[in-house]
Amino acid sequence: MDLPGLTDLLAAWGEPAYRARQLFGWLHQKNAGDLAEMSDLPKALRRRLAEETDFQPLKLLRRQESAAGDTVKLLLELADGEQIETVLMLYRRKDSRDRATCCVSSQSGCAMGCAFCATGQYRRFRNLTAGEILGQCYWACRAAREKGFAGLSNVVFMGMGEPLYNLNHVAAALAALEHPLGLALSHRRVTVSTCGVVPQIYRLSEWEQPVELAVSLHSADEALRRQLMPGAGRWSLAQLMEACRAYRRRTGRRLTFEYALFKGVNDSPSAAAQLAALLTGEDILVNIIPANPVEGSAFTAPSAKTIENFTAACRRLGIHFQLRESRGQDIDGACGQLRKRNQICGDAFAVDPAFGE
Ligand code: SF4
Repeated sequence: MDLPGLTDLLAAWGEPAYRARQLFGWLHQKNAGDLAEMSDLPKALRRRLAEETDFQPLKLLRRQESAAGDTVKLLLELADGEQIETVLMLYRRKDSRDRATCCVSSQSGCAMGCAFCATGQYRRFRNLTAGEILGQCYWACRAAREKGFAGLSNVVFMGMGEPLYNLNHVAAALAALEHPLGLALSHRRVTVSTCGVVPQIYRLSEWEQPVELAVSLHSADEALRRQLMPGAGRWSLAQLMEACRAYRRRTGRRLTFEYALFKGVNDSPSAAAQLAALLTGEDILVNIIPANPVEGSAFTAPSAKTIENFTAACRRLGIHFQLRESRGQDIDGACGQLRKRNQICGDAFAVDPAFGE
């Protein structure tokens, strides 16, 4: 419920408008986990809210933390029993502001069927509501604060699902995240990722507050990309590039392409040459990410030597890229894996009962 919605609800209960602003702040800025925390709301109002509303749409099922303590993965349950994943990545920096990035899911599975992705195996799924998207951010925000960070600094829609197929709820969630009485996150700190749903890229480019756009490319070879990403393969690379150019023209925002490196699949110097040919004349940064291993999948990361050869070829060919670390390998870092493991292993991981309190 946005602020006008809360204001209407409380007005119908005979409450003044400032109560709605107080409640909005408790929910969206302080991320209260319990009505008892909302100490400046009258008890009678808190009682009524407890009886007639539900402001915790997600239940924490499991939490995994990397050995370094800089990546936290959360498995959350929706009211209908579906499970989703959220990842918090923490970066301490000497020369600039610390960063706490939350990677959220936008759907509880995915129809795009990418061959390397655990989430693509869940065919029974639905779009998440704005409340369920925000619920993930707020669980992550509480975890970041527990670790001494001020809160979330960035939100990326790179978790489970294709966010461009759930744009209305993504937009509503962003409005709350950007609200001055909420986390006041700038839209410049929000990245929406897509596997390349061309018509929706045009829709996204019409947003008044443009966000960063990251496109999962993974191969510049049309046939190979169609094999790797059958859902995205509905559109040709030429159509995808045209949509990306239009996004850049309309929003002025620079795009990034994600290129996960898979051993023996897209990691050769000739694959780098195809990438260079596709990107000639384009102002696009490529994030090269050695693949996160997925249990039971044939897709693995190349050796350090192969990665070095691939990036050396990219450098020679003038590709503007950065080699990104693959976070959380010790905690089922790739999306959809924790949910999969939870269903296979049952009680193998216990949630710290104090977490988030
Ligand atoms: S990689 Fe993304 S788009 Fe592809 S199946 Fe997984 S969640 Fe869906």
